[in-house]
Amino acid sequence: MAGTIVRATVDGRAVEVPGGQSILQAYVAAGHTLVEGVGCMGLGVCGSCRVLVRRAGAAEVRAELACQSLIEDGMQVSFLAYFKAERPHRYRIEDVADSWRMLDKVPEVFPEAAHCRHCSGCDRACPKHLEVQIGVERAVAGDLTAAAAAFDQCIMCNLCTLACPEHIRPNHLGLFVRRMVASQTLRPVDLLQRLHQIAEAQMAVDPDAPGGRAPAG
Ligand code: SF4
Ligand code: SF4
Repeated sequence: MAGTIVRATVDGRAVEVPGGQSILQAYVAAGHTLVEGVGCMGLGVCGSCRVLVRRAGAAEVRAELACQSLIEDGMQVSFLAYFKAERPHRYRIEDVADSWRMLDKVPEVFPEAAHCRHCSGCDRACPKHLEVQIGVERAVAGDLTAAAAAFDQCIMCNLCTLACPEHIRPNHLGLFVRRMVASQTLRPVDLLQRLHQIAEAQMAVDPDAPGGRAPAG
């Protein structure tokens, strides 16, 4: 409850702050410094502040975002560091954009996706509550449009990858199918026009706008 003092442990450090704030806010309010595991500072769109959370009296440990979950009394929290895949998936979207060959591409670039155990680990780990397993299933079945839609709100926090016993990297598979689908889609006209304006130096610069700066020289 807002205003009530809560006591929790975040990354092994004691946090004693008024409730009603996110784990991220509470950590900073308690005087600790964040040097990693944070990006958009509370908007829930960058996926950087991955944490494992165990609530007082609960046996279950849940994967959440520190900027989206409120601090609670007795909570134990650990930040999860960014990690790189042992086996990265390398591709050039220009090389896979031939729509007549698209169905070959998922098994070629992500062969392990066919080994999905349907264990739902990725679904349980996803802080955005996406249907990750279904997205993987659709990609393997060749329904790339549905697969891309399943990952439309993905913030690339990597928690599904951490949870996957088959090392599928569901979010990267999702990004791959989204890129393939986008490569076959007409670009938004507004974006095309703006890029054209930039390329032709036709955009007016307002140096008085917030953060604005007069062009050098
Ligand atoms: S699909 Fe994976 S990377 Fe995307 S938000 Fe969900 S857990 Fe995070
Ligand atoms: S965690 Fe991996 S193996 Fe399990 S359902 Fe998700 S993609 Fe399939």
